[in-house]
Amino acid sequence: MERAIYVGIDLGGTAIKAGICDADGRLIHTAECPTPVKEGAEAVVQRIAELARQLVEASPYHWDQVAGVGAGIPGFLDMEEGHVKHSVNLGWEDVPVKQWLEANLGKSVKIDNDANAAALGEAWGGAGAGIPNVVCYTLGTGVGGGIIVKRRLIQGFSGMAGEIGHIPVVPDDHAIRCGCGKYGCLETVSSATGMVHMAEAALKVGLSSSLSVLANITAKDVVEHAVAGDPIALNIVSIAAGYIGKSMAILSVVVNPQRFIIGGGVAQAGEFLLNLIDRHYRENALHTAQDGVEIVPASLGNNAGVVGAAGLHLFG
Ligand SMILES: [Zn+2]
Repeated sequence: MERAIYVGIDLGGTAIKAGICDADGRLIHTAECPTPVKEGAEAVVQRIAELARQLVEASPYHWDQVAGVGAGIPGFLDMEEGHVKHSVNLGWEDVPVKQWLEANLGKSVKIDNDANAAALGEAWGGAGAGIPNVVCYTLGTGVGGGIIVKRRLIQGFSGMAGEIGHIPVVPDDHAIRCGCGKYGCLETVSSATGMVHMAEAALKVGLSSSLSVLANITAKDVVEHAVAGDPIALNIVSIAAGYIGKSMAILSVVVNPQRFIIGGGVAQAGEFLLNLIDRHYRENALHTAQDGVEIVPASLGNNAGVVGAAGLHLFG
């Protein structure tokens, strides 16, 4: 019998990415096209189906070998039903993606949110390959994540498992309001947005920093100035890393992962940030829960979402 392949779709507000993976999580072939968001949900789903077929046609495989199609989608989803309940990025309300794609493609379809898909991608074919218990952090505009226990992606009762950006880690007297409406979420301090916010607040009260010469501060600037020795920037990066370490200490006694994987734009700051996170994690975590635990950078970059979506049939 010819070997099975899996098609993964990473649906974003600007682009649809598709990829073929083999059963070992190796990404073999990719394709990409713009997302026709303005044409509505049906047009977008139609475009996904076309891209999936074109991808397989242009590869050395044929359609019969496709054992399943998975899609990572930004928003709140009903994974069981395969519905997108609400997506700000796509402007969608109650879209039956699974049903539409299955009718079009004649293949079994699974969907999950984009953060979970990216986490599964890293766990399966990236920095967590071969490790059954993994937690992934994506440090970008927000803080996303995904939890894999015994090689299964954990979704929870209503799909909210792995929303680690909303673990309330900041004490009340320092907590600011999160985009979710609550106070003190990890995302308010450890995302790119959170770090820039802290930098702007420090400059506003007149603290002296090498950041003050910049017109528009980015999280990358904050890390670079911290590495160069600016005390204000270093303090901000330490706060961001400190709360990530604290959240990891919490997760260590909840799901006890062997490996934490750190990805996303902010993580490109590299070893400096990773070492700080590691130090804060070791300070906070129960000794027996941190023994043998590693904190490593993500390895798939922008392909994590496609690989994870393809893996939903095996591990979702
Ligand atoms: Zn929140």
